[in-house]
Amino acid sequence: MAKVRIEKEHCTACGLCNAMAPDYFDWDDDGLMGVIQEEIAEGDEDLIESCVADCPTGAIIVE
Ligand code: SF4
Repeated sequence: MAKVRIEKEHCTACGLCNAMAPDYFDWDDDGLMGVIQEEIAEGDEDLIESCVADCPTGAIIVE
């Protein structure tokens, strides 16, 4: 099953991924964006691919 992660050094914490997929991305206690669900559930592949495509800094990685 594919997994998603954020390269924090490239993330500007703009909040877009949280707005698009709040089940996967949420704010850390330190105010940065984090992944709260790594494994991409069946049927969510297109949603996460949209997040990858729309992230302004290319910080979201699926592997
Ligand atoms: S969309 Fe990209 S830059 Fe914006 S918070 Fe999410 S990972 Fe960070």
